[in-house]
Amino acid sequence: MASRALVIGAGKYADQEIGSWDEITESARRYLEVLSSDAMWGPGACRILTDEELQTADGVMTALQDTADATGPDDTLLVVYVGHGKYWSDLPVSDQVHFAVGSSYKDRPWTWLSSWYVYRVMRKADARLKVLIADCCFSGRLPHLGGESVLPGILGERDQGTCVFTALKDERESYAPAAGCTKLPTRFAGCTPFSGHLLKVLEQGTRDDTDQLTIGHLREAVRTEMERCPTGHKAPRMSLNNARESTPLFTNRMDEGERRARPAPVEPAEWARLLKVDRLSPLADLLKDEHMTGDVVRHLSSLTDPESQDLAADIDAKANEFFVEPDTFARYWSHVEPTRSPQA
Ligand SMILES: [Zn+2]
Repeated sequence: MASRALVIGAGKYADQEIGSWDEITESARRYLEVLSSDAMWGPGACRILTDEELQTADGVMTALQDTADATGPDDTLLVVYVGHGKYWSDLPVSDQVHFAVGSSYKDRPWTWLSSWYVYRVMRKADARLKVLIADCCFSGRLPHLGGESVLPGILGERDQGTCVFTALKDERESYAPAAGCTKLPTRFAGCTPFSGHLLKVLEQGTRDDTDQLTIGHLREAVRTEMERCPTGHKAPRMSLNNARESTPLFTNRMDEGERRARPAPVEPAEWARLLKVDRLSPLADLLKDEHMTGDVVRHLSSLTDPESQDLAADIDAKANEFFVEPDTFARYWSHVEPTRSPQA
């Protein structure tokens, strides 16, 4: 069993009305290249669909099922879809985005691949973490992947959950631009804008002072890239279900010398934000200050969402281990009080 990535990029269609886009095929090819050269994935973990497989829903789903079946409970299943997306408001199942395959026809919904089938196979896969990257029209309508209940995680351990990263943020938006962004490096200028910017982040890494890019790093970096690009782009969206922002997904390929250590946060809320994106690296710095550690645990405990509660419990467990000196622990605890009672 091993982590697996499947790249689905249907860019050629029998129906002239759908319109073939070289950017789709090019993006898919680049995903394969970039993932294959990432030490966390590698060529053996990545597969791209052939032109023949892309022709039919059966070809795509058979490949997806095979890929899903190859994952085990410690693995990640990553599915990338680049292509046309469509949505019919009068379908019996509401909010169902359809993906195009080579034999799809513009106004014949039955010739498209329902996202429900893709979701079903991904949900049922044994992989602990399931990630769908969808670069298509109507992708803002794709729901989160749902899935199994969360396992009680320990600090820094990979958790069970799902992540859906889409080219469009707003569900009312229908059109995801396909024509390449001229501000991207030549290698990615022939990709769709969302995939081009995402691939640039994966290949160049980020300035975050960490060896691995987490789900949170990826979201922040792609969002910032697209916001700052002078071409002007639509905002992407990421929906998580039980997956932590701090889960590592890719290698950070930025040279260590080019990364910069962030200045230490001064407010508990800033620490909380930082620790949600990267649970491990900033923690060592936080624990240097027992007063602030207490403030951060108190702040997180006051928030009601499960991720904050979970993170508060993790940091508290670490603090209990780390502050062995009774005076240090007492100072820590005086900041945590009165929201929490001491552990036995
Ligand atoms: Zn751009």
